[in-house]
Amino acid sequence: MYDQLYAGIDAASLSWLEQQWIAWYIAIGDPVIATGLMTFLLHEMVYFGRCIPWIIIDAIPYFRKWKLQPSKIPTPAEQWECTKLVLFSHFTVELPVIWLFHPIAESLGMSTYQVPFPSVRTMVPQIAFFFFFEDLFHYIAHQMLHIGVLYKHIHKIHHKYSAPFGLAAEYAHPAEVMILGTGTIGGPLLYCYLTRNFHIFAMYIWMTLRLFQAIDAHSGYDFPWSLQHILPFWSGAEHHDFHHMAFTNNFSTSFRWWDRICGTDTKYLQYRARVNAAKKAMKNATKEQQEAIERKLMAEVEAEGLRAEAEAEGSAPKVVKVE
Ligand SMILES: [Zn+2]
Ligand SMILES: [Zn+2]
Repeated sequence: MYDQLYAGIDAASLSWLEQQWIAWYIAIGDPVIATGLMTFLLHEMVYFGRCIPWIIIDAIPYFRKWKLQPSKIPTPAEQWECTKLVLFSHFTVELPVIWLFHPIAESLGMSTYQVPFPSVRTMVPQIAFFFFFEDLFHYIAHQMLHIGVLYKHIHKIHHKYSAPFGLAAEYAHPAEVMILGTGTIGGPLLYCYLTRNFHIFAMYIWMTLRLFQAIDAHSGYDFPWSLQHILPFWSGAEHHDFHHMAFTNNFSTSFRWWDRICGTDTKYLQYRARVNAAKKAMKNATKEQQEAIERKLMAEVEAEGLRAEAEAEGSAPKVVKVE
């Protein structure tokens, strides 16, 4: 028997997933709690679920040849330290935001418990819009977080790792989680507001893809089959890893176009050109010699990054800094 939420719905016409959806809402009873809980659980499962393969890859030396900064492998202690802060912020910041998102979105006309789900044809353009919106929002907000006082008190935490790893994707100050999270939920809220026709199921697909994007961008690995080799405008780990290593350039999340149009990728492009030129010149050198050259170029960029970071904070460079 159906709860009153689903009076008049014929279960036989629904997909397996839609039937599970109904079962969840009926089991929990209260749609507000059911939605909040589902959103939080989905976020946790996708976040840590996506991090597990990267933790395994970091533990297997075979994969080092694709590591962007091969000399910097996160230790289990570092990964655990990172996990603790991420979990803390999930419960203290993201959980309340998730709960707050629901009434706002519903007042803007978002469907939650309703079935059937929207068609793929409806959801694809919505999600494409969210990708575009988030990337642009992040591009602007991220640059602001690099300004003096905002950097020193907020964004510095995320830059703790100059060679990031999957779990570090959401390693950030609670204020940063709120500021940059606005880009992720802002698209769906804006869409709801403008069209009054949006189902949270599309939001879940978006959330899943966005988490994959963020975690993969922090993975520290660039494989020959990574998405950016198929879609050249996709940022990927290779793009964002440079941001952590060099402290500058590459402020966007999903796409490379804003950094290219606004010229905030010039140092990154110079670095890539230098690495490629060095590799070409060293074609006949041993693998060790080639790696040594790459390490030297990386060290130069990183040293320059430390200077830029100190300048942004208005303090002396790290090497001589006394906290
Ligand atoms: Zn940054
Ligand atoms: Zn990052």
